[in-house]
This record gives sequence, structure tokens and C-alpha cells, in this order.
Amino acid sequence: MSKTSISSLNPIFLPFEDFHQALKALVHADNEILLNEVGASELQRPIFELTIGKGAKKVFIWSQMHGNEASGTRGLLLWLQRREYAQFTNVYTIVILPMLNPDGATAFTRRNAHGIDINRDARKRQTAEMRLLQSRILFHKPELALNLHDQRSIFGVGDSKEPAALSFLAPSRSPEKEVTKDRIAAMRVIAAIVAQLPNHFHSKVGRYNDDFYPTAIGEWVQQQGIPCVLVEAGVLDASDYGRNAAVSAHPYIFNAALEALQNIESAPNESEYFAIPENKESFVDLIITNAVLNGKPTTIDLGFTKTFQLDNDQINVFWVLNEVGDLQFKTAYRCLDKGEVSVEVTELLPLINSRVDIIY
Ligand SMILES: [Zn+2]
Repeated sequence: MSKTSISSLNPIFLPFEDFHQALKALVHADNEILLNEVGASELQRPIFELTIGKGAKKVFIWSQMHGNEASGTRGLLLWLQRREYAQFTNVYTIVILPMLNPDGATAFTRRNAHGIDINRDARKRQTAEMRLLQSRILFHKPELALNLHDQRSIFGVGDSKEPAALSFLAPSRSPEKEVTKDRIAAMRVIAAIVAQLPNHFHSKVGRYNDDFYPTAIGEWVQQQGIPCVLVEAGVLDASDYGRNAAVSAHPYIFNAALEALQNIESAPNESEYFAIPENKESFVDLIITNAVLNGKPTTIDLGFTKTFQLDNDQINVFWVLNEVGDLQFKTAYRCLDKGEVSVEVTELLPLINSRVDIIY
């Protein structure tokens, strides 16, 4: 299948060229989408902005400021391909900046070409990408901004045993976490989104903690008086590390957000936002209980992170040992007990934070 088909894009690794091919095909097939090159990354890769609709209300959506977090970009392309935006073009001007970090996307890293986390650069503005993003937001002055990310698979929903397949946050504008009118609007939009999600997400939606990160963009956007919603795509189950479930939820997210913003006073109350359980770092990708080490039974639990690494244009997948001991209060996407698996190592300590080959 050609790379211009959105469903054929690699769910884990979305380098700039593949994105660019899919984007060009999409825009070519749909003359309602206006494409502008508005800037460039540190390595001079183009950064695009799409404009749809002529309505008086403006929304601004951006994705992939972390290069190895492609779900938001894929969700946007899916929404555009299905033309679900068409119901809103009289009310809204929808501005989309997909793939803010094409250098990081191509290198399969969170950071930009200089190793800077763009989402920690909202104050010093050392990166071309952050300077561009802020200038576009100030230029458009939207009534709502959506900031699309992927979250690590470590997050569970509150005290439940459910993974946070999607998470949301209405960021704070100050360390006091004051609940301003703009923040309430973001909370109401989130509550409306959660109410519209397909059933299989119920009980699998978390709320990020709202600690104030002064160098993050969401906090900066809120300080400009613009309601900002952070969307984090998570893992639904052991077969969903490509986050396809979250990608397929993005059209619901965009539609619900735009519907809610049309009449924010009648959107769900912000108390429904606070009722979403907070995320906890309760998940491990793989737990081996009662590990057999070098043929000897033990009561030791081993916790592993599923790790994806780019090597010669291919994504390698392997397990990294992070935790050794008692993991009975953690939940795993995959759990193996003695007899199902053998770990042939002589010493565990030197292997912590290293790749370990597991035979099962
Ligand atoms: Zn991110």
C-alpha cells in the first residue's frame, strides 16, 4: 500500500517524509483544506499549517511537538480524510499545525535536532519550533487550543486496574492552579469530549495532575488567556502500543470539542472534569512473577518496559528491565509467571535499565 494512505502509515514511527506524502495527497484530494508552509525546523524541514472553514470562531490544533509521539498527527489526518470537519466550517476557522517537530519525528526522538524538549522551551524560546508555535498562536488568537501528545504506558486510571488509554488536562496558569474563566472553558470542553467517547474508553480515561510547569506550552497558552486542552494518547491493551485505539478516538475528540465550544455555557460543568480520576504511575509493560533465575525458583518479581528504538530505518522492539522486587501492587499489560518464562542471568543488579532477552 502506498505511504499516501493514512491507514498505511507506521503507527509507531512517522518520519517527516511519510507524513509529507500523506499530507500532500490529502490536500490534493480536498480543496477545502488550505496548506501553507509557515516555518521550518532547526534542520530546515518545512512546518505546515492547514486552514479550514471561514467561521468567526477560531480554534488552533497542533501535534507532535514530541517527535516520537505520532498519534495526534495520525488522528488529525484521519479526521481530515473523513471530512468530519465539514459540519463546523460555517462556525469555525480551524487552524491545524501538524508535526511541529519534523526533525525529532524523523530521528524518532522526543526532542528537537539540538536535543531540546520543545515542551520545556516556552520561556527561553531557544528552539525554532517553539518560536514558530508561539508566533502562530499569538497571530491567530484562537478561542481554544488543542495540544496533542502520546503518553507513556505507565499510567493507570486512579486506583483502578485500568490503563489510561486517553488522558486530558486543562493546564494551570500559575503555581496556585487558579481556576480561571479560560481554564473552566478548557475543563468543560474536556468533560464534553469524555462524554462523547466510544464505550470502550469508559473507565479508561485519566486526568493529568495539574502541577504548574512554567516552561511547558500549555501553561503559556493559558497565560495568554486562551483555553488550552492537552490530549494524551495512551495504550489500550497489550496489542495497542501503536495507539490505534486512541487515534481512532481523535475524530470524536475534535468533533466534541468544537460542538462544546459553540455554546460553552451549556457544556458539561467543570465538576465533571474534576470527577475524571487522576492518572497514577501504576502500570508496567511486563511483569514476570516468581522469576526462575538460572534454573532456581525465587519469589522475585521483574518489571520491564517495552522499548522501541530506531535502527537503520527500522523500529526494534525489546524489553528493558526497570524494577526488581515486589510488584504485587503494580498492574501489567502482560504478566508471565514461573514456568511460562525463563530468564537466564547470573546477576540482576548490572542489568537494571538494560535490555534483557526473554524467552517465552
Ligand atoms: Zn509529549
